[in-house]
Amino acid sequence: MSAPVLSAATVTAEARRRRSIAVISHPDAGKSTLTEALALHAHAIDRAGAVHGKGGRSGTVSDWLEIERTRGISITSAALQFEYGDHMINLLDTPGHADFSEDTYRVLTAVDAAIMLLDASKGLEPQTLKLFDVCRRRGVPVITFVNKWDRPGKAVLELCDELEQRIGLRPTPLSWPIGEAGRFVGLLDRADASVRTYRKTPGGANLAEETYFEAADAARELGEDYATAYDEAHLLEPVDRESFLAGKTTPMLFGAALANIGVKQLLDTVLELAPAPRAQPTDDGGANAEPGADADAGTEPVARAVDTPFSGFVFKIQAGMDRNHRDHLAYVRVCSGRFERGMIVTHERTGRPFATKYAQSVFGRDRETIEEAFPGDVVGLVNASNLTVGDTLFDPDGPSVRFPAMPAFAPEHFAVASVRDPGRSKQFRKAITQLEQEGVVQVLISESRGDANPIFGAVGPLQFEVAQFRMEHEFGAPMRLDTLGFSVARMVTSEDLAEVRSSTGIEVVRRPDGAWLALFRDIWHVRGFERSHQKVQLIPLDASE
Ligand code: GDP
Repeated sequence: MSAPVLSAATVTAEARRRRSIAVISHPDAGKSTLTEALALHAHAIDRAGAVHGKGGRSGTVSDWLEIERTRGISITSAALQFEYGDHMINLLDTPGHADFSEDTYRVLTAVDAAIMLLDASKGLEPQTLKLFDVCRRRGVPVITFVNKWDRPGKAVLELCDELEQRIGLRPTPLSWPIGEAGRFVGLLDRADASVRTYRKTPGGANLAEETYFEAADAARELGEDYATAYDEAHLLEPVDRESFLAGKTTPMLFGAALANIGVKQLLDTVLELAPAPRAQPTDDGGANAEPGADADAGTEPVARAVDTPFSGFVFKIQAGMDRNHRDHLAYVRVCSGRFERGMIVTHERTGRPFATKYAQSVFGRDRETIEEAFPGDVVGLVNASNLTVGDTLFDPDGPSVRFPAMPAFAPEHFAVASVRDPGRSKQFRKAITQLEQEGVVQVLISESRGDANPIFGAVGPLQFEVAQFRMEHEFGAPMRLDTLGFSVARMVTSEDLAEVRSSTGIEVVRRPDGAWLALFRDIWHVRGFERSHQKVQLIPLDASE
């Protein structure tokens, strides 16, 4: 059976109905609960707990590794796809733990908008701030959802003020809570002043009973509470799509994911305001930019237009999910064209053909073979062991393309790795290459220690735990990891190397891309060195700095 020939217009239409988003939040704000609620609402799953299994809940779909189970954290990212109305939503999961910020960063390169989830009683928390910063740098527009409104929390205006003061994002409310957090009565719809009230159903069930009131009825029914909410909501500017897309404002919604309050409004907001996949910037000077469709009407295409032949980039590699099969899954974000399973694409980095016979959608642990995908979708390529994070794939029938390299966070933790059993050196070396390709840790080769004792660099120490676990259980090469007393890395040019080498307390290492890094104990040592070596240029490497 031959595949139907699709016109560029069909690809554009498919792209236009897609929304690819990620939820960012501080741990415990309710990301897993919200993800479930969103998918449940769109009927993608039939019971809560099927997406994320955490303590006590039955499903453990996105928790692959034992570490995740024992530590109760989600390290791996699952991509969830579901239809909602006429739209297709791709919801990419992000690890909540700060130690895996790099992973989250990569996921954010693959989405078109993010939902910033806040706990009503906590407001902006450290991890939210860091992730928000990544969104700003990448130009990812942010919708804010204030969760747990069923419990006592901060005052609404205080939360709004916090957003504006601390991250410079002006909140534009779509809904407004009636009754302060903890004495929550319902939600005001700012657009038409109607109200939905919620009452806990008897018997302890989580789902709340909803009643709808038009504006006039709501004012009569809820009196003072309604008037207060109405007045407060109108102190802020209304939603404006242009400034939202420009990263200046954030549409704000309130609710309680656990009770399914405000979840439908959030989904509807994603459809209405979040951008459809747009032309993706390329790393080759936009040489491939073609006039043509941008799925999001009204924006000038500046790079690889969505209706050009297939192209995509690897934003995440995941391995070790299935111990019986040396599993190596590359997640590809489709940027343009139609992906069809079985097509032979070009692997830009090597110039070699790559067969896509085993293409899957990844829904937590459940996988299904997918036959086709469109811009904004995520394709899981199985056993793609020569693909690395940041690699571009494209249809050789179309123009070649290279998407920008994946930026890395500066490592702040360093440890020397050595194989425990010298008889396992071969496995150890192979594992090092793979962990580095997947971006589990950054692998640095020290001038003084050599290849046999690579230095691992990480944003958070839990990355070391993952590497150690996999080294032992997946590669059968248990290793020793000795923590080093460095916390800052700076890039140095080869001209300055000699001077850096001759200084004490600094270790010089080489990154796989050939860059030289100098490792310092802390920022004070960096400053001290800079004062005494004014000619030497120390270059910060943090994508988030
Ligand atoms: P994550 O770490 O961000 O994924 O957070 P979880 O989804 O695991 O939620 C953390 C805790 O907050 C859990 O005990 C949830 O049941 C609870 N929670 C999530 N949403 C709500 C909500 O809307 N209201 C209340 N009261 N609790 C919630």
